[in-house]
Amino acid sequence: MSKQKFKTEVSKLLDIVINSLYSEKYIFLRELISNASDACDKLRYYALTNPGIAKNNGEFKIVIKPDSTANTLTISDNGIGMNKDDLVNHLGTIAKSGTADFINNAKDNGSIVDLIGKFGVGFYSAFMVADKVEVTTRRADEEQAYLWTSNGVSGFEITETEREKIGTDIKLYLKDDAKDFTDTVYLRHIVRTYSDHINYPIVLDLGEVGEENINEGSALWTKNKADITDDQYNEFYHHISRNFDTPWMRLHFKAEGSIEYTGLLYIPSEAPYDLFQPDRQQSLKLYVNRVFISDKVDDLMPAYLRFVKGIIDSADLPLNISREMLQQNALIAKIKNGTVGRVLKELKKRSEDYDDYMKFWKTFGVAFKEGIYEDRMNREEVALLSRFYSTNDAEHLTSLDEYISRVQEGQTNIYYITGDDIPTLRNNPQLEAFKAKNLEVLLLVDPIDEFWVQVLTNYKGYPLKHISQADIDLKLERDAPKADEAKLKKLTDFLAELFKNEVSKVVPTEKLTNSPVSLTVENGQMSIHLERLMRNHQQSTTFASSRILEVNPYHPLIIKLADNITDESQKETVEEVSRLLLDQAKIAEGEAVTDSSFFNEKLSDYILRGWQKSA
Ligand code: ADP
Ligand code: MG
Repeated sequence: MSKQKFKTEVSKLLDIVINSLYSEKYIFLRELISNASDACDKLRYYALTNPGIAKNNGEFKIVIKPDSTANTLTISDNGIGMNKDDLVNHLGTIAKSGTADFINNAKDNGSIVDLIGKFGVGFYSAFMVADKVEVTTRRADEEQAYLWTSNGVSGFEITETEREKIGTDIKLYLKDDAKDFTDTVYLRHIVRTYSDHINYPIVLDLGEVGEENINEGSALWTKNKADITDDQYNEFYHHISRNFDTPWMRLHFKAEGSIEYTGLLYIPSEAPYDLFQPDRQQSLKLYVNRVFISDKVDDLMPAYLRFVKGIIDSADLPLNISREMLQQNALIAKIKNGTVGRVLKELKKRSEDYDDYMKFWKTFGVAFKEGIYEDRMNREEVALLSRFYSTNDAEHLTSLDEYISRVQEGQTNIYYITGDDIPTLRNNPQLEAFKAKNLEVLLLVDPIDEFWVQVLTNYKGYPLKHISQADIDLKLERDAPKADEAKLKKLTDFLAELFKNEVSKVVPTEKLTNSPVSLTVENGQMSIHLERLMRNHQQSTTFASSRILEVNPYHPLIIKLADNITDESQKETVEEVSRLLLDQAKIAEGEAVTDSSFFNEKLSDYILRGWQKSA
């Protein structure tokens, strides 16, 4: 077979991998062992439904064979193996969506070591230490074996070959500066440090001397907590999550009762790049009695906890359970409920330390809040664990419980406002009366907020209300001059006619202090922010909730307009100023102005006039 080229993306990636990791070359070994372990997992699972497929294949194990004379290192496993297509698809290209992201991220100088794991480019790390790699492999259901060869630069070749048993050998022709990796003392050290948690025996092939077991090869989660070191826990996390951060939370438990299972769960300290990708798939791996079954059991964790990494192992599930049968399985549902409960309980404990909890919240809070919407059973608990910006404190995020502890006398609601970003929201004119009356308002800026507020209608006896729906008396005490009633009526009528295509009505309000006007919606209607979200997602084009333009009768500009409303000579100015005011109200809501060239021109115009007068 003639030489095949790497995809362009792959060559770029190889460059980065090979050239950037000089100080941490040993990670290649961890990656290759991790792949070997995955391959054994796959074959063990495959054999469950295809008995006999792995007969004569011996116990699963991973063998490391150094040859200091030839300067090679071979990593072998008796796992699932690869056929020709696998070789092309998995080693010749990176068919994964993460590749382009990886390259972009790496360019931005992120920690490349972290990225290698995250983006599943582990195999390529072999080229950090080798100038030639040979992969000899035979897949479980095929007779034909293949040899894949590459120097990591100019592409790869695949030829037919023979291999007695199922499995894979990865032979590395070590570079001159990588001779260390034939040193058995060094090899033992690396394996113990980075791969001790692997569930299969890892043995060092010492030639005539025989084989030496380096690790125990037992499932980490079956051991006693007291016998597991932090390093072992962390390395296991790296292996199963392909993340290389130090996890923010770790939870190792045994559940006993009607169904028994063990969980070893982690919450990363860094968000994965795909946290908000549409499939929102959970990421726990399911084992049955230490046999890996699947990492795609949708019902094992709810989507809002998709960032929780780890494993669940239960001996109470049937071993020969098919992946299809796992969906909607009653036992799985029980495991899920129990596990979610434990995660929430642990989060509650951790939430007592504000700074520590913020590390979690700022990374995963937006995804977590989906649970208020999604998880009917734990809705209140998820809400309790959520944190929000509010008008109370610019720095400190609040919980709903803290909010309740601060309610004013007579206040029976939790108030919130929604919008695109915190700074704009803080200055929304609709908040003026609330600020003046010391009524705290939650500032909600994530798209998901618009959805959970519709289902969490009440928290601990306090209904949640958008401030536009507040039915309390927001009238402020004031002694400032006010626009004349009759003229004000004429003005609002005039504005209603002028803006009849944009607003459903124009009303005077007692709620505003600094702003002349503000936009709001009719009680019970979609908020302006939600409407904008839907518009942006093309969910709504024609439908618009009817808006109300509120005018502040105490504002000098409104008084001036009202005073001039019947003056024919001022007609043009009154109209222009009115249009500018509506634009202002739109800007305060995060909306675009009606006609930006009109807005810009008139704004400069009026500024200049005011200036000339004062100068
Ligand atoms: P990842 O492990 O994240 O999938 P890698 O680059 O480490 O990414 O490996 C790419 C793919 O190559 C694996 O997903 C697997 O399909 C295949 N592969 C690598 N090593 C082996 C092996 N020892 N046995 C079988 N398949 C392997
Ligand atoms: Mg890998």
